[in-house]
Amino acid sequence: MVSSNSRRAVVVGAGIGGLTAAVALRRTGWHVEVVERAAALGEVGAAVSIAPNAVKALRAIGLGPAFTAAACALDGLESRTRGGRRITGVDAALLRDRYGAGLYNTHRAALHASLLDALGEDAVRTGCAATGAETIGDRAAVALDGPDGPVRLEADLVVAADGVRSRLRADHFPAHPGPAYAGYTVWRGLVPADAAARIGVPSLMSETWGRGSRFGHAPIGDGRAYWYAFETAPAGAEHEHRAAALVARFADWHHPVPSLIAATPDEALLRGDVYYMDEPLPSFTAGRIAFLGDAAHAVTPDIGQGACLAIEDAVVLAAALAAAPVPDALRAYDAARRPRTQELARQSGRIGRMLMNPNRIAAGLRDASAAVLPASVAMKTIADIYEWTPPPLAPVEAGV
Ligand SMILES: Cc1cc2nc3c(=O)[nH]c(=O)nc-3n(C[C@H](O)[C@H](O)[C@H](O)COP(=O)(O)OP(=O)(O)OC[C@H]3O[C@@H](n4cnc5c(N)ncnc54)[C@H](O)[C@@H]3O)c2cc1C
Repeated sequence: MVSSNSRRAVVVGAGIGGLTAAVALRRTGWHVEVVERAAALGEVGAAVSIAPNAVKALRAIGLGPAFTAAACALDGLESRTRGGRRITGVDAALLRDRYGAGLYNTHRAALHASLLDALGEDAVRTGCAATGAETIGDRAAVALDGPDGPVRLEADLVVAADGVRSRLRADHFPAHPGPAYAGYTVWRGLVPADAAARIGVPSLMSETWGRGSRFGHAPIGDGRAYWYAFETAPAGAEHEHRAAALVARFADWHHPVPSLIAATPDEALLRGDVYYMDEPLPSFTAGRIAFLGDAAHAVTPDIGQGACLAIEDAVVLAAALAAAPVPDALRAYDAARRPRTQELARQSGRIGRMLMNPNRIAAGLRDASAAVLPASVAMKTIADIYEWTPPPLAPVEAGV
């Protein structure tokens, strides 16, 4: 194990990826400072589902109990037709048996809060936008635009966790075209607890497949229910931001789809066009800068893995840095993470194109073939994602 008493890292971005990296690095003895562009800390968005692979990663950095206490343990996954006929399903008990952890859904703010609790808010500087990062010899540096003007921080390592529109990625990979539009927009809503109880929301991640649209829902563990609606649309299209306008479009979908939308206050509704990295990055490192999460491999939300993979990245990076000097560790990190994340990004894009097909015949064939697909084939994709296990992390050092 490499002695890390004096090693110092700056993490750019206090999203799920950046904060998980900060916690993991701290647990292996690094001094870590997180810089965040936003003036206040928090996670925008409604909920996030955390799959067995990421649950195991959170456990590896000591966050298992805090995470599972705040999240909703789901009974499984299922897909349905617009009329409500079940197409496919997987039981969470089977996932726990095979992959050593279950499937959870939680409010993003709850996961963010668990990470911040573990890290300490004083480790994060808000209102600080990174404007550049460089490697000079065996040191790295980040230039920041802070509340009191420009600041430069030096470190042994910079972790670029600055999201899908990463400034640091654009600087270090100028030939990369940047994020691409996935072809659909997504609405996300939170249904208040009393309405969710009245409607009755099963403890499943349940997704209904339409033609050029999809709808998913699940509880988040505090009585409220989360839902999302994907709709094929041109990038940047104007959409009326009212639940009432949306409910009309899903009016003939099975229960509880229209009821969940109708019970959502307009202020609990979010919408955003989906962007991802279609063109894979040639490396997840540049000098002493490690890219992780959406900055490295933003995937479409079709396999629900963007945050999960960011959590995996963070733990793998910390384990590599605990085992080897920084340059070797970054090579090992790149070799471990690029093939897996880029393959899953491809799979996610493929699945998204299939599930969002607006053609009636293609959608019918999709539903029919999914229903008769042998369980072993369906489980292969799931196994590729969920059977991942984190590398061993060095023991927690006293006082870090
Ligand atoms: C509709 C939808 C549903 C999803 N559902 C799931 C799901 O169920 N499960 C799942 O695993 N994933 C899901 N994802 C993906 C997941 O949300 C992302 O992959 C994940 O949040 C990425 O985390 P990150 O930390 O890499 O980036 P981000 O969350 O984008 O964080 C980046 C941070 O960096 C900050 N920042 C940016 N630039 C700078 C700068 N120059 N200087 C300082 N700070 C900066 C930002 O303010 C932000 O706080 C979903 C995505 C979408 C769009």
